[in-house]
Amino acid sequence: MAEILDGKKIAGDMRALIRGETQALALRGVRPGLAVILVGEDPASVSYVSAKEKALAEAGMFSLDRRLPESAREDELVRLVEECNADPRIDGILVQLPLPKHIDEQRVLLRVDPSKDADGFHPFNLGKLMLGQDAFYPCTPYGILKMLACAGVRARGKHVVIVGRSATVGKPLANLLLNRGEGADATVTVCHSATADLAFHTRQADILIAAAGRAGLITPPMVKPGAVVIDVGVNRIPDVSKKKGFRLQGDTDFEGLLPVAAKISPVPGGVGPMTIAMLLHNTLKAAKARAERENQKETGV
Ligand code: NAD
Repeated sequence: MAEILDGKKIAGDMRALIRGETQALALRGVRPGLAVILVGEDPASVSYVSAKEKALAEAGMFSLDRRLPESAREDELVRLVEECNADPRIDGILVQLPLPKHIDEQRVLLRVDPSKDADGFHPFNLGKLMLGQDAFYPCTPYGILKMLACAGVRARGKHVVIVGRSATVGKPLANLLLNRGEGADATVTVCHSATADLAFHTRQADILIAAAGRAGLITPPMVKPGAVVIDVGVNRIPDVSKKKGFRLQGDTDFEGLLPVAAKISPVPGGVGPMTIAMLLHNTLKAAKARAERENQKETGV
């Protein structure tokens, strides 16, 4: 039976370390702060934002909750982003996606100061990621890398197959895994909605990462025995027996894969908590850079 990759536990350990570093930074007069911008009231986004704000508070960080109505204009949102860029208390800015259809996401993300880009979605940071340089990396792909490392899975020389090519998950993850260095050096295949014979590709994977947003897409015949399976998908399946009226399901047939895979991450409790831990990590990284700048100003070095 597959070992279950407990994202909640791994993320909890990371969050404890981050809390310690945040306390140390507070002694130097710097409290990490993240502006969380939400446009509209999409129920999934509202719940993600409140989970992120709770995690920030638990880590001893400061969160500035900024909400705009669904009808907000793109220029109003851009103005808010620019206010946050200029606010010295704010180390990181998170614009919760997706944005309403009438707003151009890329145009808005381009206005986030790259040095405050806690989500790692600015083209400057994505470009640096592609070049293998230090940057703010997107939280979900970065969290997957950390999860693999903490579970003792070495990607080096392995064939990783990613299902999904979004700019927020699949593509940055493929680049991170392709880069040289610790936790990377993999051979990567990226599949997507136009891939012919998906199962042919997934069966080649030593490490299979499902990020398609299609409940139960990956079934046992699509997985090589002994593979490591990371399930990124979060799909809301209507279920009247649940208080909220739905249950969450990943992109894999989790139960069916237990006898096939060597390791598998569950949904919920897998990649989701890792994503939040990496958001805290990125906010702390930005706050440390601020502390360094302030120190240089004081000492003149
Ligand atoms: P997206 O819709 O932007 O992209 C989905 C990708 O999957 C596309 O590239 C598409 O080509 C591909 N795809 C769709 N159907 C396919 C099929 N049948 N076969 C092969 N490829 C297919 O989604 P996204 O933002 O990348 O998110 C993917 C999933 O991961 C969603 O369920 C999302 O909710 C989840 N997600 C989870 C976290 C987390 O923290 N746990 C974070 C981000 C996204």
